[in-house]
Amino acid sequence: MKRSLFVMLCACVLAGAFSLMAAEPVRVMLLDGESGGPFHAWEQTTPYLKRMLEDTGMFRVDVVTAPPKDGDFSGFHPTWSNYKAIVMNYDAPDERWNDALRSSFERYVREGGGLVIVHAANNAFPKWKEFNRMVGVGGWRGRTEADGPMFHWLDGKIVADTSPGRGGSHGPRHQYVVDTRVPEHPIMRGLPAGWLHASDELYDRMRGPGENMTVLATAYSDAAKKGTGRHEPILMVLRYGEGRIFHTVLGHDLEALNCVGFMATYQRGTEWAATGKVTQAVPKDFPSATQVRTRPAYAPPAK
Ligand code: ZN
Repeated sequence: MKRSLFVMLCACVLAGAFSLMAAEPVRVMLLDGESGGPFHAWEQTTPYLKRMLEDTGMFRVDVVTAPPKDGDFSGFHPTWSNYKAIVMNYDAPDERWNDALRSSFERYVREGGGLVIVHAANNAFPKWKEFNRMVGVGGWRGRTEADGPMFHWLDGKIVADTSPGRGGSHGPRHQYVVDTRVPEHPIMRGLPAGWLHASDELYDRMRGPGENMTVLATAYSDAAKKGTGRHEPILMVLRYGEGRIFHTVLGHDLEALNCVGFMATYQRGTEWAATGKVTQAVPKDFPSATQVRTRPAYAPPAK
């Protein structure tokens, strides 16, 4: 009798310990501090990107703000390894990071760190070879065919186009359908075949090495909207050494972020980059192919 009580007690203590372990938050660094222009106002978008992760109950997010354009980088040595994933809401030119900072970041991802690239973070560092291998494709900041081919979806697969020209452009912002291309990937499992994204830029002519890259979703870039007439990459996953990268080109501003499709893929993609798994259910208010879905809690502040 006494013995069975003791066993039960042990089982309870163990179960308690395991549930505590399960509740341990996944630590994420949200890196911001610079953008390529007056648009991409990271001061506005970072609090929303942070809250979206923390509202899952799964993540604990620290914001790390890099020094500004003319700032002193000598004391900027983030402890990447304290985090399961780094979310980049950051876009800086090649000269901003010195070799030591670059190699510490490369080592972190290569050795298994997660990386999440949001929208214009793929504009950063056009000539940093290893960064471009992590993100797969990027745009602007002088990118051309020298930086890699363009990629698009054609006849059931992703094809590379090596023809010359600029890297990165977009027409006027509009709502567009995001098409799932790899429904069996953990990030995409259970999502509809197509869903209507809130008004956003539709990046096209993105270029890069595209190594170890799987394009999970594309969107048709309509020539009538000054697009390419091609199905452009929208959501991607990549491997860099042991590291996992989730790359979403969505999310120009607060209006673009307030889309349940953006939120759910960003939350699930961050979990995948950090842990290799996706445990989050698809939200019930996920958009359909014809209806954008937003949430009042993420509405941009009234102007
Ligand atoms: Zn943008």
